[in-house]
This record gives sequence, C-alpha cells and structure tokens, in this order.
Amino acid sequence: MPHVVIVGGGFGGLAAARALKRLPVRVTLIDKTNHHLFQPLLYQVATAILMPGQIAAPIRQVLRRHRRATVLLGEVTGVDAGRRAVEVRTGEGRAERISYDFLVLATGVQHSYFGQDEYARHAPGLKTMADATMVRNRILSAFEEAEGERDEARRRAGLTFVLVGGGPTGVEMAGAIAELARLTMREDFRRIDPLKTRIVLVEAGPRLLPSFDAGLSEPAARQLRGMGVEVLTGRMVSEIGEDGCRVGEDWVASRNIIWTAGVAPSPAAEWLGLPKGKVRVRYDLSAPGRPEVFVIGDVAYYEQDGRPLPGVAQVAMQMGRHVARAIEARLLNNAPPPPFHYTDKGNMAVVGRNFAVFESRRLKFSGWMAWLVWSMIHILFLALPNMRLTVFWQWVWSYFTEQRGSRLIVDPRNSSNP
Ligand SMILES: Cc1cc2nc3c(=O)[nH]c(=O)nc-3n(C[C@H](O)[C@H](O)[C@H](O)COP(=O)(O)OP(=O)(O)OC[C@H]3O[C@@H](n4cnc5c(N)ncnc54)[C@H](O)[C@@H]3O)c2cc1C
Repeated sequence: MPHVVIVGGGFGGLAAARALKRLPVRVTLIDKTNHHLFQPLLYQVATAILMPGQIAAPIRQVLRRHRRATVLLGEVTGVDAGRRAVEVRTGEGRAERISYDFLVLATGVQHSYFGQDEYARHAPGLKTMADATMVRNRILSAFEEAEGERDEARRRAGLTFVLVGGGPTGVEMAGAIAELARLTMREDFRRIDPLKTRIVLVEAGPRLLPSFDAGLSEPAARQLRGMGVEVLTGRMVSEIGEDGCRVGEDWVASRNIIWTAGVAPSPAAEWLGLPKGKVRVRYDLSAPGRPEVFVIGDVAYYEQDGRPLPGVAQVAMQMGRHVARAIEARLLNNAPPPPFHYTDKGNMAVVGRNFAVFESRRLKFSGWMAWLVWSMIHILFLALPNMRLTVFWQWVWSYFTEQRGSRLIVDPRNSSNP
C-alpha cells in the first residue's frame, strides 16, 4: 500500500489523516507532542477557565479507529526529498528515517519576536499547551506574590499585566484576565484588592483586531475599556525587561508581560531546500517541483482572489481534506480535483463572557448573540465528544458562579521526587 507520512497533528494534519481513512493507503502521523491541540481555546487554559485535557486530545485516541494509521511521537528534523524520507528524532534522541510515497507537511507556526529573541524570557507567548500552563502559573502566581509583597511599587508592578499585540489572542486574553481579577478573585484576597489590577493591551497598528472588518474593532475596544482594560493603539513596545516594558515613550512597570504579537513559520521550507518562510504552494497544495509533497495550514502560502489566505483553523482543515482528494485522484489515475478554494465560514473573537465579534462575508455583528454563536461553534469543533460535554458544563458552571475550572499553580519545584 502507498505510504502517506503526515508531519503535524494540528488542524491540517489531523483533517488530512481523517480524510485518508477511506483510501487504501498506510498513514503515519508524526507529531512532537502526543496531543491535538485546540488552539482557539488555549487562552482559556492560560487564564484558568478550562483544564488542559478539555482542549487537547491524544492523537492516538482520535485516530484509534483508523486501522491503517500509525501515530509516532517524535520531532521531524529534516526531509530528504530526493530519497523520499523524513528524518525523525524519537525517544531519547534516537534518529530514524521514514520513507514515504506522499508527504504532508502541516507543522504550523511558532512565536516570532521580530528578531528580539531575548524578549522571550520575560514575555512568554501562547502556542502550545506547555506555554498555556506556564502562563497560567505566572498569572496566578502574580496575585499570590502581590498578596505577600510589602513594597507598594513592586506590588503594583506585580498586578500589572501587559499584552503585546491586539489581535484575537491579545483581545481574548485581556478580557479573560480582567474577568479573573474583577469577578472570580474579587473576594479571595485580604491584603490586595484584585479590582485594582491593571491590564494594558498594546497594539502597534491603528486599531485592535486588524484582521477583522474595521467596523468591529471599535465595539471590541469599547467592551474592553468597559471591563477596565487600557487599550493603547498606535503604540510600539520597544523594550522588554524583567521589570516592565517601554510602550511608545512611556515605561510601564510590570512583571507580567505576555507576547501575542507575531508568528513565524516552522522550518518546512528549509527542509525542502526552498527560501525561508512559508512554502508558496501550487494550486493542488503541493510544493514547487515536488508533486508528492504537500504543504498545508499555517506553514503554507496560498493566494486566493489576490490575497494570501489567513492562518486560521478552517483554512488548515479544508487544505487537509483537499490533499486527501488530490492523493486519491493520483492513486486512481483520475483527473485532479479543481484547484484548492477556501470557503470562509466566518471569523470570531471573544471579549469576556457576554461579548464577541463575528464576521462572515457580508454579515458582521457583535455582542451577546455573537458570543452565543462563538460558544456553540467552539464546542462543536472540539476533537472528542467528552471534551464537548465537559467544556459545555464548565462554561455553564462558570457563567453562573463566576468561578473557574483550574486555578492551580503547578510548580515543578514542588515535586517530591529528585
Ligand atoms: C492562541 C491561538 C489562538 C487561535 N485562535 C484561533 C481562532 O479563534 N480561530 C481560528 O480559526 N484559528 C485560531 N488560531 C490559529 C489556528 O490555531 C491555526 O491556524 C491552526 O492551528 C493551523 O493549523 P496547522 O495544522 O497548520 O498547525 P497547528 O495546528 O499549529 O499544528 C502543527 C502541529 O505540528 C506539530 N509540529 C510542529 N513542528 C513539528 C516537528 N518538527 N516535528 C513533529 N511535529 C511538529 C506541532 O506539535 C503541532 O501539533 C489560533 C492560534 C493560536 C496560537
């Protein structure tokens, strides 16, 4: 049987693996984590609303009924396109080569600090589950440390949160931290007043949510301001250190800076000997000069109607399904499917518990109704039924009690093992 190797079990890779189930092919899906992560709800783990297992599913479990699919935990380090093999590091640094007939690269993106990699130490980003639990530890620890802090200036800096980047993740994080402080925690401390928590959202461009219709930016900003968030647009963060950051001309003293500003593609292009960056794929999503190698999702560059497709889950999933159709056509010697065409089913961002913005082609609205649509769609797209059920109940519980699912600081230094 032809062998399809898929690198990455995110939205694109998993959609491809699922769609290949009906074909007579062997599939090997390789991922460096053992789980498929629902990144749109990562901010909810980072702000203690949901627990990690509610938004991440073991890839092995998702594909357990796909008898011809093998899941391998390992990190791909390169592709030998000439010999049609991927190089994988598994276990304790063991190197392995896996041959393929078709290769699907769906490795997504990683943070980019625009060349200022030293910012990473003080301003973590949000991309993996490990990032989310680390940010959760930091946010919750900030309140605990402020409660024990006697110095007023240090206490204020400890209760100041700066979010760098006014895209959907920055907006969602700002709203969730505001509600954590003002609703969930308001009665829990004796020496500090969580209501005095300062939350600053900085966006270099002229408006929040630059990827959305301009008419939705102002309602989102208004909603955030109503929740006590300082929204600073048109201001660059030019320096980040242990004690704060420079926003425009001003220094903001803060020990909690979160980076939500930029991403860079994973090195799939370099693996294929192509220029660094996203891989500019052909109409069937194959890499230039390599018809048996497909590149999909965030790491692919594909223009439609003169504009590059956005890095969103829907694009990755639709690309994954398209690749399965392209492989099927090649195996059966059928005519290739028509060029890939993305169908935009809508774009959303949420601000707190009652407000979201929604746009889909000409339909644009914001408010409670958009929040309800956001909630339903996010539940539907979770990978497993138990996740849908537990997230639904957690949200209902949190909505009425204002409490959160997992306010735990899990510090590895507290392990009783050496
Ligand atoms: C915080 C956050 C919020 C988001 N919110 C939304 C939203 O609300 N709506 C929306 O549509 N989109 C949202 N996105 C974007 C969306 O998640 C991405 O567009 C989507 O995940 C892209 O899918 P993908 O398959 O290309 O990559 P990913 O889903 O990122 O999957 C890549 C996979 O590849 C694996 N991998 C990477 N390198 C290697 C390697 N060398 N070896 C082995 N495995 C590797 C990774 O472990 C990962 O599992 C959000 C993203 C983030 C980070």
